[in-house]
Amino acid sequence: MSVNPATGEILREFDSASEHEVRDAVARARAAQPAWSALGVRKRAAVLKEFQFLLHDKKAEIAAVITREAGKPYAEALTTEVLVALDSARFCVENAHGLLREEVVQHGNLAMKTKSGRVLREPYGVIGIISPWNYPFSIPTTESLAALIAGNTVVVKPSELTSLIALELAKLFHSAGAPENVFHVMVGDGSTGAALLESDIDKLIFTGSVPTGKRIAQAAAARLLPVVLELGGKDPMLVLDDADVDVASSGAVWGAFVNAGQACLSVERCYVHRSIYQAFVEACVQKVKQLRIGNGMDPETDMGPMIHERQLRIVEEQVNDAKARGARVLTGGTRLTNLGPNFYAPTVLTDVTHAMRIMREETFGPVLPIMPFETDEEAVALANDSEYGLAASIWSRDTGRGKRLSAVVAAGTVQINDATSCFGISEAPHGGIKSSGIGCTHGRFGLEEMVRIKYVAADYLPRMKKVWWYRYGRKFADEIESLVDFQFARTLGQRLRGAIRSAGSFRGKRL
Ligand code: NAD
Repeated sequence: MSVNPATGEILREFDSASEHEVRDAVARARAAQPAWSALGVRKRAAVLKEFQFLLHDKKAEIAAVITREAGKPYAEALTTEVLVALDSARFCVENAHGLLREEVVQHGNLAMKTKSGRVLREPYGVIGIISPWNYPFSIPTTESLAALIAGNTVVVKPSELTSLIALELAKLFHSAGAPENVFHVMVGDGSTGAALLESDIDKLIFTGSVPTGKRIAQAAAARLLPVVLELGGKDPMLVLDDADVDVASSGAVWGAFVNAGQACLSVERCYVHRSIYQAFVEACVQKVKQLRIGNGMDPETDMGPMIHERQLRIVEEQVNDAKARGARVLTGGTRLTNLGPNFYAPTVLTDVTHAMRIMREETFGPVLPIMPFETDEEAVALANDSEYGLAASIWSRDTGRGKRLSAVVAAGTVQINDATSCFGISEAPHGGIKSSGIGCTHGRFGLEEMVRIKYVAADYLPRMKKVWWYRYGRKFADEIESLVDFQFARTLGQRLRGAIRSAGSFRGKRL
């Protein structure tokens, strides 16, 4: 069911696609795949280019659907959804040909010098995509674009909370000229997702929570289905002693409250050097108090509602747990029932510790807990004290210092002097470590996830029997030893002796 989270209005009701319907869609996608693949990258890129133009033409309409269905401010629907998708199409169109083409490989092993090597990147076939509600357009779009340009056909199971925008995505691909059955959307809840997982897909790209991701991984392991898992995060922000307090506090407020904190990459924990802690906290509180909360369709709105009551309750529980353990609420900490059913005030907490749920579990809501530290080592230890490892940010006037520290922060992405925005860098691989997931999407490495690697080794000497074939014997062993000495012995003398002994060897008859 699609509901406007700002008002509670039911936008449309949907029946979940059945197991049978999912299987049927996958079968049709499979039948359509060879012809789509045979078009070649350039013709597929032409479809993506048209998709990009159509999306550009309809940007306002698409952004409005996103805002109505997911609640985020219209400006964010444009920047973090439409613009991200446009740029992802641009990346695929510009780069796929170069990144997917055959690669010639030189063989170093002397015995293999008589063969040419080539790496081929072949589409998997049918890629299944299961996506969440928080970025209901940019996530399935960026993943679909990469899968399609690589020659796969695609079946998307969007979140049951955001089916309308997923159907808009299907319309865009079809209008852009994607042949029939190349791209499908199967709306439905977790049972439709489970049906997709059990269907005849060749790979699954899953984005969602850690518990669902673990269930998916178990089921996929049973049939050795390759999966990419883009899961939750608890991203730390490290504000070093030389950071610009005004810039860093603005970054913290945006990073924590963008999409009402419902971003896998949002700032979930903030650690600030003791020397600037007080000034930083005061700046954050003062800026949070200026945020305008309301319906995302109002262009003046900075922060919209949460997606639904369940998500709001998780936030409330975590804030209450923190308060009970001694945290101080400097602003927020309450529902804003006068605005609508799912509004929660942007909240700043201090006096927090790692014993509190708010510092350990994904909150996925508008809360910024801030904690002081004394040394860079302590900051890194706190940042790494988490089961998650999606992204992190380091704030310092000295970019080099930030880069050096990034080496010891355990995360898939580290940003210096910005947070959360890395999802908008189409060239940047996006993926987490630890419980935040397996594999990646976006950029060159995301494209690599959409292809199987095949190696073709072709012998230059088709009429020659290979020296390592049967039959073995003392003479064979001597000859192999000479060859091995020639390439691998410690001293030049040994290698030369090996070369001399090798010359003229291997004349014995092979079977
Ligand atoms: P969720 O795990 O509840 O659902 C994700 C998707 O999985 C939905 O489409 C849902 O219908 C489907 N699903 C549920 N049960 C299933 C099952 N048994 N089999 C197959 N599919 C099933 O997550 P959510 O609440 O929609 O999204 C929020 C979570 O997603 C957060 O944890 C957030 O951090 C994470 N997320 C991660 C990234 C990333 O790139 N790492 C991006 C966005 C969101």
